[in-house]
Amino acid sequence: MNTMRNRTYEKIIQYVSLTMIVAAGGIIGALPLISSSSAEVRTVISESDMLRAAFAQKISQICEIDTIDTKERPWQYIVIHHSASEKGNATRFDTYHREKKGWKYGLAYHFVIGNGTLSGDGEIEVGNRWKNQIHGAHTANMDCNQVAIGICLVGDFENGGKPSEDQFDSLVRLTRYLSSKYDIPLSNIILHSQVHQKGTACPGKNFPMAEFKTSLIQFASNEISPSRKS
Ligand SMILES: [Zn+2]
Repeated sequence: MNTMRNRTYEKIIQYVSLTMIVAAGGIIGALPLISSSSAEVRTVISESDMLRAAFAQKISQICEIDTIDTKERPWQYIVIHHSASEKGNATRFDTYHREKKGWKYGLAYHFVIGNGTLSGDGEIEVGNRWKNQIHGAHTANMDCNQVAIGICLVGDFENGGKPSEDQFDSLVRLTRYLSSKYDIPLSNIILHSQVHQKGTACPGKNFPMAEFKTSLIQFASNEISPSRKS
């Protein structure tokens, strides 16, 4: 057992060393768009982790793109937002963005994760911009919007509480899937407040960024060797 564990740690160390080199390349590319960054590891994925218990949402399925004719965009970043509202869902935000903001593609984000008010707690809703691989409208940096996947958690994490456990769980799973699929290093998984643009507090001071990144790294580590659990 000990030998097995040692081997596991060895693998993790090799993995981290390798991915830090790869991540360094990503940071160089990230400089024009984000105002802060750190050297991190890349996440990896397996299908078995993708099935959520609460909604039985298989992430790979809900992320499927509508038609084979739709060209996938070269996604480089994942930007996390909060809705800055107590309630909400994709439909409500879509209406607001179409009617009040006048954005023809509607919902600014690619994904919305509910908090149990107007959609399920932890439920992932997929927007039109994801299904049709359209750029986001979720930051004030147009270059960023072209290459950044926008994920919005319903809630106000600046003046209210934190994401619910189910929201957080869904966010980790979704982010992990997307970062693996599009080869997005952890250093390019950022908060809206880190985007180079006019200042914003989004997703709020209560968003647990350190916990979020730790969870992503833990997922990656667990997948390097399932024997680690034994
Ligand atoms: Zn935001």
